[in-house]
Amino acid sequence: SAKTAGKHDYRFFDARFYDAIRARHSREAELRHAVDQDQFVMYYQPRVDISTGVTCSMEALVRWAHPNRGIVEPVEFVPLAEESGLIVQLGELVIDKVCAQLAFWLSRGQELVPVSINVSARQFNEARVAERLSEALQRHQVPAHLVEIELTESSMTGDCQEVSEALKAIQAMGINLAVDDFGTGYSSLSQLQRLDFDVLKVDRAFTAELEATREGAVFFNAIITMAHALGMRVVAEGVETMEQVRKLKELQCDEVQGFFISTPLPPSESQPILPKRLFSWVN
Ligand code: C2E
Ligand code: MG
Ligand code: MG
Ligand code: MG
Repeated sequence: SAKTAGKHDYRFFDARFYDAIRARHSREAELRHAVDQDQFVMYYQPRVDISTGVTCSMEALVRWAHPNRGIVEPVEFVPLAEESGLIVQLGELVIDKVCAQLAFWLSRGQELVPVSINVSARQFNEARVAERLSEALQRHQVPAHLVEIELTESSMTGDCQEVSEALKAIQAMGINLAVDDFGTGYSSLSQLQRLDFDVLKVDRAFTAELEATREGAVFFNAIITMAHALGMRVVAEGVETMEQVRKLKELQCDEVQGFFISTPLPPSESQPILPKRLFSWVN
């Protein structure tokens, strides 16, 4: 009867519900173990000055070196790390790894560009990021100007007072601040100005629009004009074609980053791009 069928359906969804909870618990337990064991490595993706073609900075992007699955990308574990709070401990590992890598390159007498580190909103709320950074720089003997912090627009919507104080402390150490994924959140222009960001990274959705629609260039142009008026450098994220580079140069964008230039690379392969390697489109 309809009644039993209904009951059956209910049980079916019930079981599915508990399966989902079990799956999530085991994924979280596995991630916790990975953080405890430190199964993570950093990849580095260059940022290039659009007018000179010179590598001016690199972004550190975390990867899970999974014992069975190989290199796992952040999309598969950063959201869970954020939800579970594990991002705080993972974030500390990341800061330490980047500083250790910089110290290693410095010890080789390598010419260096600054490296940017992605920091999550939860790290600002639950960990003393400014102190963690200062400790790590001290421990590895790395000068603060070699490190930059990226935080997404959405991290600035929470308790603004606390975040802005942490950001001021970080800047006072000599670390540059970048807004990540700009255009996807809801930060106000006054917020960006008050927090005195150095760099504005425009989300790759806007870069993709450059070729797709006429309005794409209009939006990008407005963002660049606004950012320059506030004294920020502008980085276009997700640059995948020469045509995008050409348009961004026309719009006086400062830097480009994306697969067209280079995918994120493991440290062994990032070394060749460190000595301010020149990219070819300028010549
Ligand atoms: P994000 O900080 O905006 O980093 C840019 C992402 O876009 C990277 O993905 C990068 O590999 C990818 N990307 C770069 N160029 C292109 C391109 O031309 N086309 C396309 N389609 N994608 C491009 P990834 O490494 O998978 O990282 C994803 C996100 O995970 C990052 O976005 C960041 O929000 C987060 N994440 C990565 N590493 C860390 C970390 O150490 N800590 C924290 N809190 N978050 C991290
Ligand atoms: Mg980033
Ligand atoms: Mg981004
Ligand atoms: Mg992005």
